[in-house]
Amino acid sequence: MNEPTIVVLGGGVGGVVAANELHGRLKDKAKIIVVERRPKQSFESSYLWIMTGERQPDAISRDIAGLARKEIEVIAGEVESIDTKNKAVFVAGREVNYDYLIVALGASLDVDAIPGLAASHTYYTLEGAVKLQREVANFKSGRVAIAIAGLPFKCPAAPYEGAMLLEGFFHARHIRHDVELAIYTPEPSPMPVAGEASGAALQEMLAHKGINFHGDKELTAIKKGKMTFADDSTEDYDLIITVPPHKAPSVIRDSSLAGDNGWITVDRHTLETDTEGVYAIGDVAHIPLFDGMALPKAGVFAHGQAEVVARNIAAQILGHAKREVYNGSGYCFLEAGGGVAGMAQGDFYAEPRHITLRTPSPVWHWGKVAFERYWLWKWY
Ligand SMILES: Cc1cc2nc3c(=O)[nH]c(=O)nc-3n(C[C@H](O)[C@H](O)[C@H](O)COP(=O)(O)OP(=O)(O)OC[C@H]3O[C@@H](n4cnc5c(N)ncnc54)[C@H](O)[C@@H]3O)c2cc1C
Repeated sequence: MNEPTIVVLGGGVGGVVAANELHGRLKDKAKIIVVERRPKQSFESSYLWIMTGERQPDAISRDIAGLARKEIEVIAGEVESIDTKNKAVFVAGREVNYDYLIVALGASLDVDAIPGLAASHTYYTLEGAVKLQREVANFKSGRVAIAIAGLPFKCPAAPYEGAMLLEGFFHARHIRHDVELAIYTPEPSPMPVAGEASGAALQEMLAHKGINFHGDKELTAIKKGKMTFADDSTEDYDLIITVPPHKAPSVIRDSSLAGDNGWITVDRHTLETDTEGVYAIGDVAHIPLFDGMALPKAGVFAHGQAEVVARNIAAQILGHAKREVYNGSGYCFLEAGGGVAGMAQGDFYAEPRHITLRTPSPVWHWGKVAFERYWLWKWY
């Protein structure tokens, strides 16, 4: 009998962990293929440090081709369509057949969703973070606005980390008194999915640093130094940094896998889709929680889900009875500037959720640095 083929779409966090885990368990008992359009992968958490000049792109990037050394086949190119009936995906015109499919295509940034957004700065892409590095290095005084331009967005902590890192950055350059920092978000409080106590604790951290938080602010336009919101209010800025609205990749929205919101709804314990043999993990997956919120889009979840899916597919191929269950627990370091970080941790499937936010300390900051090093060494 031919060995089964497992195709992993996307070589980001979820895809690369799934492929490594499958290879580790199956060796030559399966063919593992990763399809990825970007030759280099970079560690997104570190984009914040690119902005502040503490990292340069090469230090946080790895060649996707490195997977080939582990006998994982890499197909470089754009996934154009997915035909689940015939168990095939099409990559740059080439048909690739699968027995198992793991969709790990992440989220796309929709910079055209709001007039003027495309011209704003963002550290949600590597290129954007590099541009911002120059911009903030030359910033001398004025109003810096960080605006979350749509929900959901990946890493609920990242906009707040960005604001606090910039606060520390301007402070270290002795220009803090000349810079005003403000955050605008459609959410009523920071990180609502982490619960009221965590939101209040984070809001207190922001207030302590003199960063103004503005909730319930739905951005509708950006033009010539002015932001407009759905409530018709306007705010001025000298430097605007946005988190663009996120949407599922177009190949998913055009496929039979997409739910009404465009993302792929999966079983929260197995990450299976409605189609047999097809799994979705990470940012592209939609996992509703008991109170109508959704599991946040974050690398820590993509990573954990990838391990569970890969182990269960391997068990099935090897004829083992044991299956693993994804439990929705996760953590996130929260950079607070000045060499310290907090840490949010909890069980997101619990009813009610119990998420704790630990007091900022250098320990968590160095934990984040160590995790970055480990990640870049381990997976590529
Ligand atoms: C500034 C910032 C800070 C963050 N900090 C943290 C943090 O501290 N902790 C945390 O847990 N998470 C953090 N995240 C979020 C984390 O990086 C993402 O949630 C994670 O990368 C999701 O993994 P994924 O595998 O689902 O998608 P991705 O890692 O985005 O991978 C998707 C891959 O699919 C590829 N792809 C997409 N469409 C196609 C196509 N049609 N054809 C071929 N390839 C395609 C993409 O090129 C990409 O490589 C942060 C994100 C940002 C932007």
